Amino acid sequence: MTTSAQSPREDFDAQVIVVGAGPAGAATAHHLATAGVDVLLLEKGTFPRDKICGDGLTPRAVRQLLAMGFDLDQPGWQKNKGLRIVGAGHRIELPWPELSDFPSFGMARARMELDEMLARHAQKSGARLQEQISVTGPVIDDRSGRVVGVTARRTDERGRKVGDELTYRAPLVVACDGVSARIATALGLTRREDRPMAVACRAYYNTPMHDDPWMESWLELWDGKPGRATSFPATAGSSPWATAPPTSGWASSTRAPSSSRWTTRSR
Ligand SMILES: Cc1cc2nc3c(=O)[nH]c(=O)nc-3n(C[C@H](O)[C@H](O)[C@H](O)COP(=O)(O)OP(=O)(O)OC[C@H]3O[C@@H](n4cnc5c(N)ncnc54)[C@H](O)[C@@H]3O)c2cc1C
Repeated sequence: MTTSAQSPREDFDAQVIVVGAGPAGAATAHHLATAGVDVLLLEKGTFPRDKICGDGLTPRAVRQLLAMGFDLDQPGWQKNKGLRIVGAGHRIELPWPELSDFPSFGMARARMELDEMLARHAQKSGARLQEQISVTGPVIDDRSGRVVGVTARRTDERGRKVGDELTYRAPLVVACDGVSARIATALGLTRREDRPMAVACRAYYNTPMHDDPWMESWLELWDGKPGRATSFPATAGSSPWATAPPTSGWASSTRAPSSSRWTTRSR
């Protein structure tokens, strides 16, 4: 292991290291920093960066955003009042429930914007965000067997690992590295092979449906294999579509009923 490129040391030591600055990592880092904890937030990408997702925020997610202090009355946050389900010849509108603990609305926000906002928010709260740092594995203390840090390498603008291995140290490491799960797999956790795999795609469309107060979910898209599609009315006249047929093969948003009739793809 080479650590000669590492200085000053305070860039590599913290009370808590959070691996991955997606929504989970950014929120964790924000709350820790707000509580006065010295936290390093390590992210292999650079913001803004995209993540394939439907971009939909349920009331549970909205509650978290409110808890983090976001003003959701600002432009860019488009609210919806529930879910319209289409399938088996039915079309049902299900409003978000009125509960004392949760807001009664959902929202949509492109992950390209949302994730950067969350990461910058954590930074403003005091978390030390380092981008273009790809964590390669945990550092384990020989005597206690505990994780006491992580190893990492810098990444270039194309995401390729470059340079020497770096060592970061903290008594607590939080793995928020998403589905890649670098830390968890290095510690022996394995993927559930009995779970179905899916292929998904997401696209944005200009559509007259962008003011629709409902998210819409099509539960039956058949192309020999089952699939589904969801649309979330979003800002700037665009509507993200996520299709997730639980099989490899096709995954095309144009298969979503009504999309070709109503929409012009915007990006
Ligand atoms: C097709 C699809 C549609 C979806 N639609 C929705 C939806 O509409 N609404 C919803 O709420 N959820 C949706 N989800 C789920 C949602 O995307 C995830 O639950 C969410 O992104 C998980 O957040 P996270 O922060 O745990 O992980 P991620 O968002 O995956 O973030 C992980 C972060 O860790 C970084 N990272 C990974 N490995 C390393 C490493 N080794 N070193 C440093 N950094 C690393 C990544 O670059 C990334 O920034 C969807 C998922 C898919 C696949």
